[in-house]
Amino acid sequence: MKKYLLITFTLILSSCSQNENSNEINIYSQRHYNVDELQYANFEKKTGIKVNVVKANADELIQRMKNEGENSPADLFITVDVGKLWQASEMGLLQKFEDRDITKNISSELLDKNGYWIPVTYRSRIIVYSKERVSKDELSTYEDLANKKWKGRLLVRSSSNSYNQALMSSIVANLGSDLTTQWSDAVVSNFARDPKGSDRDQVKAIAAGQGDIAIVNSYYIGLLLSSEKEEELNAGKSIGVFFPNQGNNERGAHVNVSGIAIAKNSPNRNNAIELIKYLTTDEAQKTYVNNTYEYSVNPNIMPDEIVQAWGKFKKDPLDLNMLGIKREEAIRIFDKTGWK
Ligand code: FE
Repeated sequence: MKKYLLITFTLILSSCSQNENSNEINIYSQRHYNVDELQYANFEKKTGIKVNVVKANADELIQRMKNEGENSPADLFITVDVGKLWQASEMGLLQKFEDRDITKNISSELLDKNGYWIPVTYRSRIIVYSKERVSKDELSTYEDLANKKWKGRLLVRSSSNSYNQALMSSIVANLGSDLTTQWSDAVVSNFARDPKGSDRDQVKAIAAGQGDIAIVNSYYIGLLLSSEKEEELNAGKSIGVFFPNQGNNERGAHVNVSGIAIAKNSPNRNNAIELIKYLTTDEAQKTYVNNTYEYSVNPNIMPDEIVQAWGKFKKDPLDLNMLGIKREEAIRIFDKTGWK
């Protein structure tokens, strides 16, 4: 009798955890771009699988998955920062997923060495400069942003933002804590104003003459240059794009990926895999690059024309998981050096 009960129980459990016939999927997403709705609509049309999305910041989504535990409806966790994927994997909230058919189309340096997440796009955190007040050859590296010549001229958003935390993590990984602390100290003393607003706001502030250079994610420039709002278009046109650390002995510009991972207790795992497959197809990759101006993880998919005009660039080859591993130290340095 006991044995029979155990078998029944196991059968119920496995049917719950697989839910093979389900026709939906639940995504917890940190992404905040209009293109995502288009991707999910295209996926629904192709597969008949209904996509439900919960949008929030990564910390809120991680906390939610943690609180929900085994009963979490989350199938997929999508972020705009590898650091948060690494953190979720460390907390045991993700399951490993490896599929050669998917990863063979992706640049190997963008892949997770631990097998928890799959990158869907990548972006660089670059320097933009006023075409009126700065000449391109005055710029060189992230390190040089500490130079006194930028005093009162540098614009950047707050340190609570995960793009800045990822950049700082990369600098800690490359230079070590002491040099990074000195760097951050000098960078803060070059700020044109207390950090505020979004990446786009920093570009608008250059156009308005409130500063001369800014640290921003590359795709926001594409979004400004393709905007129907005159203010945004003018802001985009007022600046030049510069990829830092491109010299022969330099490591390359910092990159981060927007990535996707299967939740530990995913109730619709097969559907989750279908979506990962779809988002890495040529079709979906083209939809990303032409709508958000991000870079494709597939080296054969060209960026949008606006982005191509900025030229190719060398990427920092750092293992992307370091953007999570060094995060705590990065935040400590922000606090210590008064980067608000
Ligand atoms: Fe963004």
